[in-house]
Amino acid sequence: MIRVIFLGPPGAGKGTQASVLSKDFDVPHISTGDILRSAVAAKSELGQKAESYMNSGELVPDDLILDLIRERLTQEDAGKGWILDGFPRNVSQANFLDKLLVDIKQPCECVLNLEVPDNVLISRLLERGRKDDNEEVIRNRLVVYRKQTEPLIEFFRSRQQLVSINGNQPMDSVAADLKQVLQS
Ligand code: ADP
Repeated sequence: MIRVIFLGPPGAGKGTQASVLSKDFDVPHISTGDILRSAVAAKSELGQKAESYMNSGELVPDDLILDLIRERLTQEDAGKGWILDGFPRNVSQANFLDKLLVDIKQPCECVLNLEVPDNVLISRLLERGRKDDNEEVIRNRLVVYRKQTEPLIEFFRSRQQLVSINGNQPMDSVAADLKQVLQS
């Protein structure tokens, strides 16, 4: 059983590694980015509210995302563990998650922080070419990451939950490092 949070800048490989671990450990991969992109594709109310923020590289407002996380983590399949990818992304989301996990009695064992230098992130994202992967939006996502998400590194480090992994190596090597951490 694993419960882990992936932290790291856009392009660090959180989604890729989370999906590998999700198969290996047979627990759901919960990506707020994927959930929001499906909502946009489905033109749901959530999607319509979130789209402009996503297209400009800003975080969507917390009130759109907090209920959604509570609902997702209380679904039955999340009882066997989970991998969170893209949440929490700011300090208020982290505080919300803390309370929620106490409420639902699902402590999170560890926070995996994928480290990748900026120049590598930018070239990876440009290659990926998602709708929000053009240079201007990428640059803004990195600014938003530094300002809002990076403080979470210290937040989790001070509670001895943080494990940093070198994300600037081949996919399989990153996966091997992650597995080693989770099995120790
Ligand atoms: P990346 O890791 O490449 O930035 P994601 O798929 O995690 O991509 O997120 C894409 C976009 O979805 C973000 O730029 C943001 O607008 C929105 N988003 C995802 N997760 C959150 C969150 N927890 N809070 C606010 N916005 C989010």
